[in-house]
Amino acid sequence: MISFRNVNKHYGSFHVLKDISLEVDQGEVVVVIGPSGSGKSTMLRCINRLETISDGELVVSGIHVNGKQTDINDLRKNIGMVFQHFNLYPHKTVLENITLAPIKALGVDEKTAQETAVFYLEKVGIPEKANSYPSQLSGGQQQRVAIARGLAMKPKLMLFDEPTSALDPEMIGEVLEVMKQLATEGMTMVVVTHEMGFAREVADRVVFMDEGKIVEEGRPSEFFAQPQAERAQLFLKRVL
Ligand code: ADP
Ligand code: MG
Repeated sequence: MISFRNVNKHYGSFHVLKDISLEVDQGEVVVVIGPSGSGKSTMLRCINRLETISDGELVVSGIHVNGKQTDINDLRKNIGMVFQHFNLYPHKTVLENITLAPIKALGVDEKTAQETAVFYLEKVGIPEKANSYPSQLSGGQQQRVAIARGLAMKPKLMLFDEPTSALDPEMIGEVLEVMKQLATEGMTMVVVTHEMGFAREVADRVVFMDEGKIVEEGRPSEFFAQPQAERAQLFLKRVL
């Protein structure tokens, strides 16, 4: 589903991604961890071309992400993205937030879009909030709306960039639970998070990044029990 082959990226003279190679299979859940500034968000943002790569090859769902012929909308139709900050439209209801892109970008008719929105609101556990405004929801509920909004586009993969980092502690669990359910249903997911419990329990593979490099990757059972790289050991000591 995702293939990075020897990808480099620079911000000006700053080498932010260094020779990244990573394959993510359909249905796989990959959790990316690492210190702040190690390039996790940048790597994620390259996948839907919010950032362009400097060299190497990046293919997502068969599409060469940075190809000259590539239609960026075709690429992004395949990819849902959930950020730390939910980025909901404050002046639109929950339902309108979810139906907007399917109607505008996919040409879905309004009734179908609303049915789909209700389906995903039920999935994330808040169908009763359909006609509320984002400001009337808790942070955890807003993030669940953001996930429902991503899912309503029927993407082939979902990217999560620290989806629980802006939440009060008591709301983290409800969002992780929704993500866990998605994983169980076979969604392909790349998740940047500091929630090591989630990584341990849900990830098929953990990728540890430091200073723009993938330093180590492995099954969570092996990685958490016995990280090989010294930098990974140090990192785990600090976060666990
Ligand atoms: P992480 O998500 O792991 O915290 P980021 O991918 O956000 O790391 O950032 C990696 C590095 O690239 C950081 O040093 C950051 O300051 C730098 N960086 C991120 N975005 C930009 C940008 N648009 N321009 C220049 N430098 C950037
Ligand atoms: Mg980040």
